[in-house]
Amino acid sequence: MKNAGRIDGRTQLIGLLATPIGHSLSPAMHNLAFEKLGLNNVYMAFEVGNEQLEEVVRGMRALNIRGYNVSMPNKTAILQYLDELDDSAKFTGAVNTVVNTDGKLKGYSTDGSGYVRNLREHGIDLKGKKMTLVGSGGAATPIAIEAAQAGLAEISIFARNDQFFARAEENVRIINEDMKHTQVKANIYPLENQEQLREEIRTSHILANGTGVGMKPLEGKSVIEDVSMLRSDLIVTDVVYSPAKSKLMEQAETVGATAINGLGMMLWQGALAFELWTGQEMPVAYIKEQLF
Ligand code: NAD
Repeated sequence: MKNAGRIDGRTQLIGLLATPIGHSLSPAMHNLAFEKLGLNNVYMAFEVGNEQLEEVVRGMRALNIRGYNVSMPNKTAILQYLDELDDSAKFTGAVNTVVNTDGKLKGYSTDGSGYVRNLREHGIDLKGKKMTLVGSGGAATPIAIEAAQAGLAEISIFARNDQFFARAEENVRIINEDMKHTQVKANIYPLENQEQLREEIRTSHILANGTGVGMKPLEGKSVIEDVSMLRSDLIVTDVVYSPAKSKLMEQAETVGATAINGLGMMLWQGALAFELWTGQEMPVAYIKEQLF
């Protein structure tokens, strides 16, 4: 009989539960990796919101699906349906990866560890360093938690006066009180105070943008008003990867600073999820070369 493709009776499904979903790069990334490594898995995106989530999780469990990614708007809503949480998910209050082991569902957050891993790939160790981080949403929160976990000495979080400010306060409280073992000192400041921002950047090794400023509809904008806040020995990172060179990345390059965009974080959060499901390393260099 003719082989009708690589799907057969033993193919295991990995899913993605989010909405909207059509723009996601995850299916291309994971399917390419499965193919490259000869793994009998397939990755499919499912348009799922909070209303369908409980039923979908039950269905995935009944089908013994090995695992799935969770993205907006389900990253927090999924917590109540899981059996166990990794520390990354506990401290972040969100899950982006679920692993099903014999019917037991465990939630992880690999966004922050993806960020830290990407820095390591660039030869940057966070131990003993100071970071200034802008934002406290879905991307910034895991960065704060995992950077603290990775041994920062100090983190100064700047947040705009909006609905995310309370989460910035909570992140600072978690790092200072619940993560005492890390001995990181966390501070919070309003983003509106640009002079304080200048001062915190001056004493930092790393400036991280954890907001969507720089990406549509805020393309061409930066969280830094004045490029003189940056300097050549600063490491500047962005969660934005489209455009590949945000305004902040341009500003960093202008002063000769190290500029690292959000692509590596995105790739590595996927690679770490891939490893949790398959026990194998994603061929990240190959994926990057093929897709980006
Ligand atoms: P979110 O809505 O959860 O959080 C948005 C954050 O941006 C909040 O802290 C908010 O206060 C801040 N913000 C919004 N508008 C602002 C403005 N004009 N000035 C200053 N601060 C502002 O969103 P999110 O999920 O955290 O996503 C943020 C960005 O990160 C998006 O561009 C997203 O594509 C990107 N992202 C990248 C990765 C990656 O792996 N590289 C992962 C997740 C998200």
